[in-house]
Amino acid sequence: MAPGPRDGAPAPGSARIIAFSIRIFPITMSAQIISGTLLSQNLRADVARRAAALTGKGRQPGLAVVLVGDSPASQVYVRNKVKACEDSGFYSVLEKYDATLSEAQLLERVAALNADPKIHGILVQLPLPAHIDAFKVIEAIAPEKDVDGFHVSNAGMLMTGQPLFRPCTPYGVMKMLESIDYPVRGAHAVVVGASNIVGKPQAMLLLQAGATVTICNSKTRDLGYHTRHADILVVATGKRNIVTADMIKPGAVVIDVGMNRDDNGKLCGDVDFENAKEVAGWITPVPGGVGPMTITMLLVNTIEAAERTDR
Ligand code: NAP
Repeated sequence: MAPGPRDGAPAPGSARIIAFSIRIFPITMSAQIISGTLLSQNLRADVARRAAALTGKGRQPGLAVVLVGDSPASQVYVRNKVKACEDSGFYSVLEKYDATLSEAQLLERVAALNADPKIHGILVQLPLPAHIDAFKVIEAIAPEKDVDGFHVSNAGMLMTGQPLFRPCTPYGVMKMLESIDYPVRGAHAVVVGASNIVGKPQAMLLLQAGATVTICNSKTRDLGYHTRHADILVVATGKRNIVTADMIKPGAVVIDVGMNRDDNGKLCGDVDFENAKEVAGWITPVPGGVGPMTITMLLVNTIEAAERTDR
């Protein structure tokens, strides 16, 4: 008798059916955190080296910060900016004025700083009191000292692809993308927020880096539809939790520019960080994300302004 197949072994030519069970373990991958604090340390070390080189030639870089009024938030911002300047070896001037300062007096101060050779960068802290036309004041700053990059001439230079200064916050965001070697070229970037200070220049910088850019504002219908298509999502609205985890494409880079307070008075961003970090590939925290980068890029813009006068 011809030998038959062993028990359990398939007959020749017959399909082998194997019963097995698959167990699916949920894999939760937390996003990598892009720390603006750490990145700033490296960038500021470079700024300090460049400042020392200029100072050695008798051309210490100088920044003037002008504050009108006594808004507590503005006082903190200017104090941090002046301290960052001092830590980097800059000459820094803080001009503080009472909220009753007239527009004409402020314009006079700006003209004096424009003419001061020790000053390479001028920053007028916004917002200004209601009786002062902020646009007029920004336009009075010499474009080559406008380290915030808000002057119409600098906005135009940015728009036409030849920026003299890049506005600090969007510039910082671009440095963050660079720090993770993110291939911006060809990526779909969605910017939520369209202010002159953050959203619009951010969109321009991303466009110039080769991204396909969508800009959303408060009238955007179905914000989530747009954000879910973003490889790079930059959120700058000042609206806490406007972006939740379900609005994020898995693996996306999420940059949170927002600065808000939570119910306990703690600083928080526009993105629901705790849940978003389980979906995103990279994410910036608040605090410790874009905030420190903004001050760092102010230093970078000031050192660039000072180096230009050295050529
Ligand atoms: P802003 O001038 O008030 O502009 C907010 C933008 O968000 C506007 O374009 C507005 O649209 C848009 N927006 C509001 N609600 C929206 C919604 N529901 N959906 C989509 N877009 C919406 O503010 P900003 O000066 O750009 O600042 C934005 C946030 O970033 C604030 O929290 C600010 O404190 C923070 N910030 C942080 C830094 C930093 O260094 N980390 C620097 C600058 C600003 P409309 O144009 O239709 O009004």
